[in-house]
Amino acid sequence: MPEVCRFLGIVIRFYYDDHLPPHFHAIYNEFEAQIAIGSHTIVEGRLPNRVLGLVQEWADLHRDELQNCWQQHLVAKHAAGSTPSRRSRIPNLEPFPLSLLNDFLYCPRRAALKSIEGLRGENAHTVLGSLAHERADLPGYEVAKGVKLLRALPVWSERLGLNGKCDIVEVVEIETTSTNDRSKMTNYKSVCPVEYKKGKRRRFDNDDAQLCAQALCLEEMFGRKVERGAIFHAASKRRREVEFTEGLRQLTLEAIEHMRALFDAGETPAAVYKEACEECSLFEICLPRMTCQPDRLKTAARHLFDS
Ligand code: SF4
Repeated sequence: MPEVCRFLGIVIRFYYDDHLPPHFHAIYNEFEAQIAIGSHTIVEGRLPNRVLGLVQEWADLHRDELQNCWQQHLVAKHAAGSTPSRRSRIPNLEPFPLSLLNDFLYCPRRAALKSIEGLRGENAHTVLGSLAHERADLPGYEVAKGVKLLRALPVWSERLGLNGKCDIVEVVEIETTSTNDRSKMTNYKSVCPVEYKKGKRRRFDNDDAQLCAQALCLEEMFGRKVERGAIFHAASKRRREVEFTEGLRQLTLEAIEHMRALFDAGETPAAVYKEACEECSLFEICLPRMTCQPDRLKTAARHLFDS
C-alpha cells in the first residue's frame, strides 16, 4: 500500500488492486475515500467537504503524476504476479503511440513522415477529429445506467510495445455486495473500449485495428479477455459495434509487426498516389503526385531555384 503524499493531516495512498476507475485513496482521521484520477470525484467512501476540497485541489496540481503513479503501480503489480520466465520473454520495446497504427494502416509513408521525420499537418479532417475528441480527451469517470464510463484511460502493452489512451472504456460490473469482490477485474461483466471518430466508417481497416490494439492493451493490463468494442461516428452520431475476431486480431498484430520493422529500418517509404491522399493532412508536405514519380521529382528539383 504505497503512500505517495502526506499534507495537512491527509494521507494519499495507492492500494494493490485493479479496480476501476483509476483512483487513489485519501485518508483523514477516521475518514477515507477513493478519488477518481482525472475527475477527482469520490468513487466510494466519505471525506469532510473542506478536506475533499483540499484533496481535489492537490489532485488537480498533480494530475499527470497521479496518472503515472497508477500506471506504474499496475505495471509493478503485474510484474510481481508474472513468473520470471514469462517476464524474461517480454521484449524491451520502445513503445509506439496507438494512433500511429491507424496512420500506418492508412498509409505507411504517413506514419513514417510523422514518426521518423517528425512532420505534422492540419486539414479540415484533423481539426474536426480534434473537436470530436474534445470531451473524450478529458480524463474522468461517470456512471450511466449501471455502466462505468472511464474517459481518456491510459493503456499500454509491454509485450507489443504500444501505449496511448482509450477515448472511453465502458465497464459493467457483476452485481455484488462485497467490496472485496469489486477489487478484481475478473468480476467485471464486460470491458469495452470505445473510440470517437469524426466521420463515417472508412473503407480501410485502420479504425478497427486501432480499436483492437486498445483491446490487446487492456487484456494485457487486466489479464482478461476483451470481446468487443465500439466506434462512435460523430458525424452520423451512430455507434458501430466491433467484434475482436481472430481475423481482426491477426491483422492488428501483423500491422504492429510491419510497423515496427519499418521504423527499425528508419527509412520513409516512397509515396504511392491513391484516393486516400486527397484526405491526408500531410498532402502538401508529401506531394504524392510529384514524389511518386522519380523523374518528375528530379526535374522539379533541378528547376527549384530557377527564377
Ligand atoms: S499524401 Fe498520400 S502518400 Fe503521402 S502520406 Fe498522405 S496518404 Fe501517404
